[in-house]
Amino acid sequence: MNVAAKKTDLKNLTQEQLVRFVESLGQPAFRGRQILAWIYRPGIIDFTQMTDLAKEFRAILTQSAFMSRFDDCMVECSRDGAVKFAFRLDDGQIIESVLIPEEDRNTLCVSSQVGCAMGCSFCLTGAMGFCRNLTTAEIVNQVCAVRDWTLAHDKGLLTNIVFMGMGEPLANFDNLLDAIAILTEQRGLDFSNRRITVSTCGLVPQMRRLGEETDVNLAVSLHAVNDEVRSRLMPVNKRYPIAELIEVCRTYRQKRRKRIMFEYTLLQGINDSDADAVQLAELLREVPCKINLLAVNPGSGSAYQSPGEERVLCFQRILRDRGYTVFIRTSRGEDISAACGQLAGKGWNEEQA
Ligand code: SF4
Repeated sequence: MNVAAKKTDLKNLTQEQLVRFVESLGQPAFRGRQILAWIYRPGIIDFTQMTDLAKEFRAILTQSAFMSRFDDCMVECSRDGAVKFAFRLDDGQIIESVLIPEEDRNTLCVSSQVGCAMGCSFCLTGAMGFCRNLTTAEIVNQVCAVRDWTLAHDKGLLTNIVFMGMGEPLANFDNLLDAIAILTEQRGLDFSNRRITVSTCGLVPQMRRLGEETDVNLAVSLHAVNDEVRSRLMPVNKRYPIAELIEVCRTYRQKRRKRIMFEYTLLQGINDSDADAVQLAELLREVPCKINLLAVNPGSGSAYQSPGEERVLCFQRILRDRGYTVFIRTSRGEDISAACGQLAGKGWNEEQA
């Protein structure tokens, strides 16, 4: 029997929705906040552990609700320290999250969809096509499962969340927003907005809404400086061309003085020339931003070549000379297909569970 069809998964609910849910059970609003303070504590798996709730109410909750979690977790560790997690969903689909430990932080890259409809030509997730959106619970459960794993393996606390895994987060907007509400709610997972980054390929209307409705960081996958090349790499550009994308970035509502992060993957002979770097500097002139450069991860069957280190450094120098903050990002987890654009939920078997 499908439990989810009968009962409400409380991991799908923000604080506000939880309050409405308990009110529908004839309980006062504060009970919703009380329950929320329990749901995301490590080790809480059923309502009998919520000891400050009346026994009768716990029994009602048991009949009408449940708290989903990822039990079926497969783990693979990379030589460079990245850890890839795969979770089997109720319908048998597999999604992946990647933990990237660094000296001063533990960043988790989470998925927002099974597959992706955006079809970026350098991305294995895009090559899968689109299967479905993740529910809010499936998004937050990635965070809960990896948090529990880092605690159990003495790896420290999760500090940062980036929505850069499988899928285009802004194409699953409502569930993304609810997941962000739970992640940042003090009684929920209690992450600061400053520690959450949503990355998009450039869905302009949703970018505008994100700026209006949240205070998280925005990262934009740019990857080209003219429409001809960008449309070839990223079909979304035909819908929202570069001028429109840059305009929404320029006016992106930032509640604090935060800078947008532009991601630019360098593809040999396609977007990595000196002229491209100069044009990029020109394009971003009016946008408070930082730039991340990444040499493409060729992956199996990729049509693209990675430029040499010298080319990447030269590209960076041109931008820096024009006053930009530019980082060169190294792709982590290549040996376990956990690097950028490599997540495709493939190659897992039961022995890794
Ligand atoms: Fe989708 Fe992102 Fe891959 Fe593009 S790069 S196909 S938006 S997952």
